[in-house]
Amino acid sequence: MSNEYNDDEYEKICYMCRRPESKAGKMVSMPGEINVCSDCMQKTMNSIFGSGLTDDEMSKMMNFTVLNNKQFSNKDMSGSDITSEVSKEEGTVVEGDTEDKEEKKKKSPNISFINLSDMMGDFPKRQKIKKKSNRNPDEPLIDLKKIPAPHRIKEQLDEYVIGQDYAKKVMSVAVYNHYKRVATNTMDDIQIEKSNMLMIGPTGCGKTYLVQTLARLLDVPLAITDATSLTEAGYIGDDIESVLSKLLAAAGNDVEKAETGIVFIDEIDKIAKKQNTNNRDVSGESVQQGLLKLLEGSEVEVPVGSNSKNAMVPLTTINTRNILFICGGAFPDLETIIKERLNKQSAIGFQADLKDKYDKDKELLKKVIVDDIKSYGMIPEFLGRLPIVFTLEGLSSEMLQQVLKEPKNAILKQYQKLLELDEVKLEFDDGAIEAIADKAVEKKTGARALRAIIEEFMLDIMYEIPKDENIGKVTITRDYIENHGAPVIEMRGTPKVHEEFIEEAKEIEG
Ligand code: ADP
Repeated sequence: MSNEYNDDEYEKICYMCRRPESKAGKMVSMPGEINVCSDCMQKTMNSIFGSGLTDDEMSKMMNFTVLNNKQFSNKDMSGSDITSEVSKEEGTVVEGDTEDKEEKKKKSPNISFINLSDMMGDFPKRQKIKKKSNRNPDEPLIDLKKIPAPHRIKEQLDEYVIGQDYAKKVMSVAVYNHYKRVATNTMDDIQIEKSNMLMIGPTGCGKTYLVQTLARLLDVPLAITDATSLTEAGYIGDDIESVLSKLLAAAGNDVEKAETGIVFIDEIDKIAKKQNTNNRDVSGESVQQGLLKLLEGSEVEVPVGSNSKNAMVPLTTINTRNILFICGGAFPDLETIIKERLNKQSAIGFQADLKDKYDKDKELLKKVIVDDIKSYGMIPEFLGRLPIVFTLEGLSSEMLQQVLKEPKNAILKQYQKLLELDEVKLEFDDGAIEAIADKAVEKKTGARALRAIIEEFMLDIMYEIPKDENIGKVTITRDYIENHGAPVIEMRGTPKVHEEFIEEAKEIEG
């Protein structure tokens, strides 16, 4: 990854005061990608010289620092040159006979300075920030002409994602409007609400996949994070700002690019307010509170190349005004809350319905309203900043069959391609596809189960096929999936078969 960076486009950050080159001025580069600004350098020097050491002590100290860091090899600070000069002065030989070394040991006080190379282990490698371009601040970051119209976005989503028509439609419109606002810089003037979204749907129905596909189509950076790992600042876990650190990393540490990206926060239901608790809710309600300012749009100090702010990490400021936030969660048991509300409503008045009217309603989740999500434990301020709420449906057996064979990168196509390289044709008959989908439905993890099921039985095939070069075609059948049969294997046309064929033809002619 680091090879993709053009170092000229990035600015250095002072290792001590954390200011970037644009603020702190020219830096002195040291080994191991460490840079120190001239102010900090000066301060260090002042504190050394103001420490009351005699000249002799000082020169010994300087020797030690240089000797300790001798192993560094760096173009900016040629350690060896300095060392050799000092060595001559002091009369010590750095490399060479042991006698001199012993003598040096005796002479030198037993002081050990921090060896910077020891600290390199945890030091994040890429902490430089891309320089701000000389762009006119009024100039939009995104070209309006490059944003596809909603129906085009949906068409492209259709190529990859099966079903979820309603979700695709809502997302296409929301994303289109969002980037239109970014492109025309009208976010501030009219104060239109951001199109942040909340998607509710069972696991494995394509929430993450939809967002991933969308970000790829629009060519914007995307960060996917899990709300479960977030905690209030100061507690064990990732700081809330870490979601933006990930986005920054996805944008190649380019702040301007990151500011137009998408952040997907998965498992958002896991930060619901804990019910009946007197303890401080550091990973629930506090995280929702912490996310408020990000969702709304504000200037946030973000650690670069790390998940939490600490003394070793440089910070940069990201404005979240144009970042699109999409939250997703399965919200288990939300249906019970919806059902209770509906039952309560229908029990009032003359036309009171039967109590179990909604028990078998498969479309219950679609009837969700913001109040239900509030009852689930999401705080009103948080929901207020996610104006677009929609649900996704669980995948039925028919949809799973489509997932297997239809998308551009369908799993079955991937295996067929793999065997094609061995010049073997792989086919799945309809019964087999049905059986795989039915097995996946039983596992209740949506499309996630498909790959696991296929991988299980494809293992034998992938192992056995390359053994025999004569195999030309393999057909997977329902019997094989259901463990009472073998796949149908057809051999390549061998020369013998060919001769038999000619003889047969002669006989017919004769
Ligand atoms: P979740 O809803 O839990 O976020 P994912 O989006 O991570 O689920 O889905 C897991 C995988 O299942 C995806 O990588 C994708 O390959 C496949 N998948 C899920 N839903 C669909 C769908 N509707 N169409 C095509 N593939 C899907």
